[in-house]
Amino acid sequence: MNRENKRKAYQKGYYKTHACNDSFECKICGRPVVPAGAGTDHRNHCSNCLCSLHVDDEPGDRASSCGGIMEPVALWVRKDGEWAIIHRCRRCGKLSSNRVAADDNPMKLMSIAMKPLASPPFPLEHIEEMTRLMGGDGSMESGK
Ligand SMILES: [Zn+2]
Ligand SMILES: [Zn+2]
Repeated sequence: MNRENKRKAYQKGYYKTHACNDSFECKICGRPVVPAGAGTDHRNHCSNCLCSLHVDDEPGDRASSCGGIMEPVALWVRKDGEWAIIHRCRRCGKLSSNRVAADDNPMKLMSIAMKPLASPPFPLEHIEEMTRLMGGDGSMESGK
């Protein structure tokens, strides 16, 4: 281990002040993850399976000893229109939000975004009936 790597491993908060540009092999899908192309200084999740590891308490501090797999569970759109991924730790349940990187797998992103729509917690054909029950105007015949 050279000196710079030693500093990275032991200096608390190193990644807060330094760009995280190490390439690494994804522990979940085995794909090599390279920071080039991410469009961000903090490539913290795999561009293929979008998983990450629970190593931070605050972004970049490497202060967590959990080490669990952070699964992408949801997407949200930030004020500036940029997408962000919500990761949830499989081991301890911690949630964290991470910016989408330029080379993130678009099909995987879409499948996460579509998930709640593809499996709604109620039958889709009941939407009209439910809206009516709620006092809203969900009826297709409201124009009559
Ligand atoms: Zn991966
Ligand atoms: Zn965790």
